[in-house]
Amino acid sequence: MMNGVNEPLTRQEFVAQAAAGEVVVEVAGCGVCHTDLGFYYDGVRTNSELPLALGHEISGRVVATGDGAGDWLNKAVLIPAVIPCGECDLCRRGKGTICRSQKMLGNDIQGGFASHVVIPIQGLCPVDEKRLAAAGLELADISVVADAVTTPYQAVYQAGVTEGSLAIVVGVGGVGGYCVQMAKAFGATVVAIDIDQGKLDTIAEHGAAITFNAREISGRDLKKAISAFAQENGLPSTEWFIFECSGSKPGQESAYSLIVHGATLSVVGFTMDKVEIRLSNLMAFHARVLGNWGCLTEHYPGTLDLVLDGKIELKAFIEQKPLSEISSVFDAVHQQKMQRRAILVPDA
Ligand SMILES: [Zn+2]
Ligand SMILES: [Zn+2]
Repeated sequence: MMNGVNEPLTRQEFVAQAAAGEVVVEVAGCGVCHTDLGFYYDGVRTNSELPLALGHEISGRVVATGDGAGDWLNKAVLIPAVIPCGECDLCRRGKGTICRSQKMLGNDIQGGFASHVVIPIQGLCPVDEKRLAAAGLELADISVVADAVTTPYQAVYQAGVTEGSLAIVVGVGGVGGYCVQMAKAFGATVVAIDIDQGKLDTIAEHGAAITFNAREISGRDLKKAISAFAQENGLPSTEWFIFECSGSKPGQESAYSLIVHGATLSVVGFTMDKVEIRLSNLMAFHARVLGNWGCLTEHYPGTLDLVLDGKIELKAFIEQKPLSEISSVFDAVHQQKMQRRAILVPDA
């Protein structure tokens, strides 16, 4: 439980009981996301009062069901990070990501750094355990799909990436690494940019056609180098798809500077920092900027399919750790000492 900003996390007992339309899920694993660190270290306010269990990237097994949810009993599931109400006008019009009654795990309701979570069944994504085993994955491994992989899916899908597109991903740790793989899965040739050479080397083996270290090349030189790469490889010189995944001011400035005619810039990463940009470039280049708050629950099964089909590699990017080590794991992630995304697994 988080009790306050930077205050020690504590273990707390509570009764997990499913009301009508809800299930109790025994947590298999819960990914550690930068959003969790934002709450814990940076004082970003949670919607629910503290104490609160953080964590919104959860996979697990349904162990108890409320009225009307009996079909889910014993099923392996992936839980959407943000659960829309499913009933309002926005939800009915297929706009669940902006549902005003949505519930985010570990923010509006108790999250997944726990042995169990209680959640409403709408949007719950079933997991085919045979395919999971065939893919060499454990149920805990796919917890990160619930945000780190689905968020890029929504971004790449709504941007309109298709076969033959040129995609550029700025920041390839965590979400950005999956964004590279996702854009490739949608048919794009992908340029990866980061300031961490280790991350660039990893992503070069998992989907990036070319990588650039922003410490060595930036600004106009970077744009020229990408143009040259596009020309050499018969890729478009216009309509680039740029994905800002670093969630940093320099990353956002770099991503914005890469806008070409007809470009689509997708803002995937989050930062409180402000950037100074010439907004009129959008007009001059007839370009678009898009954002997405997570992913529609309707896209979860399709995203999971890409993982189970091996089009999105998880294993090289994740590392399981015992939930009892949450404090040291948070610290390591906060100090950027972990190369892979940590998944906290409840202790037996
Ligand atoms: Zn997250
Ligand atoms: Zn709704």
